[in-house]
Amino acid sequence: MLKLTHLARPTPTLARVLAVAALASAFAAAATLVLTPEAPSRRVAIRVDCVDPAACAHAQATALDVWSEELGPGLPLDVVVRATDLEDLTTAGVAFTVLDPDIDAAARAEAERLRQPKAAGQDWFAEYRDYEAISTHLVELAEGAPDRASLKGIGASLDGRTLWALRIHAEGASESDQSTPMLITGTQHAREWIAAMVSTCVADRLVREYQDNEAIRRFVDTTELWVVPVVNPDGYQYSWGQDRYWRKNRRGGHGVDLNRNFSVAWGGTGSSPLKRSQVYRGDRPFSENESVALRSLAKDEGIELHIDFHAFGQLVLYPWNHSDQPTKDQARYAALGDRVASAIYGAHGTPYRLMRGVELYSAAGTLSDWMYGEAGAVSFTIELRPRGGNGFVLPPDQIRPTCDEGLAAVLALRAPR
Ligand SMILES: [Zn+2]
Repeated sequence: MLKLTHLARPTPTLARVLAVAALASAFAAAATLVLTPEAPSRRVAIRVDCVDPAACAHAQATALDVWSEELGPGLPLDVVVRATDLEDLTTAGVAFTVLDPDIDAAARAEAERLRQPKAAGQDWFAEYRDYEAISTHLVELAEGAPDRASLKGIGASLDGRTLWALRIHAEGASESDQSTPMLITGTQHAREWIAAMVSTCVADRLVREYQDNEAIRRFVDTTELWVVPVVNPDGYQYSWGQDRYWRKNRRGGHGVDLNRNFSVAWGGTGSSPLKRSQVYRGDRPFSENESVALRSLAKDEGIELHIDFHAFGQLVLYPWNHSDQPTKDQARYAALGDRVASAIYGAHGTPYRLMRGVELYSAAGTLSDWMYGEAGAVSFTIELRPRGGNGFVLPPDQIRPTCDEGLAAVLALRAPR
């Protein structure tokens, strides 16, 4: 701004004139760079073989976006690059496979499909649903089974959307009854639509199949369950209307990664102080309405078991996420995780890989580490389908089978030890 003000003034000497001309020219060039739209270039999702760390770092430096939530030896690195960068990557010796040759085309095709009228009587879980539709569905579930389900607003987003929690419990039970408090959260990350659908679908099945399914009845009768299908409603709606690949909430237009905003190891590696970063942690722990609401719910209800649904990669993960040190509960986590992953496999034969914290690089300030480290709960992060491809734009016929896997995980975690 100072320079611009200076340019507007008269310039008395030749040297001054030349200096100003040079500045003006520099400004014109800068302005041109800013104002001219970038040459259109396809955005391509690629999977990088990270056997060579240097190649992996090169790909990360080139990336417009990193899709991989978990970074670790043996795990592939999924990134988005411009099509024009592919040749450079090849020249640099980076080995990769193309996951999606045009991620924006995939998003446009999905949006077009969502605009089509729905067939009458269609299964509600045959298609993805936005925040409004999910909210309405939760209201209907609570109204349909008032003895077993109720809906509670646990907070509001910056844009004023209610953070809904569906409480599911034994018939007629009050909150003070002796049953294990459990929490299911979905969609901290806006673009992970399958997490919203699976969380809602698990709640739906626990409420509706209570009479007919013995395993579900046993679960509901002994569990005080809270389900928050859309933790990040502003980001979720933004991913429906503006940017399909939006991840964070909408704080200041840049957004905060809610799953880096919790206080256990807040600020550590795997999170960023830069607002433009996809893993921007916020300016302090619990700076965001959404993380505050989950903290209150977990503390008020004394949550003992927790599953946080994400996508994608087909992984079952347990703390620590921020440290390579095993927790004191390592053996218990390994056994429980094995049970959960086996139950998931039992649903459709889909392998979900169980990952120990020591196998991963850090992600500091996560909900799961806070649930375990501060709230004292047994907490798992589950990365749902798919394993590869454009994992955010998952075909809608995958919702039901992925829900089967989510439900299997929830029932297995609760099973008596
Ligand atoms: Zn996620």
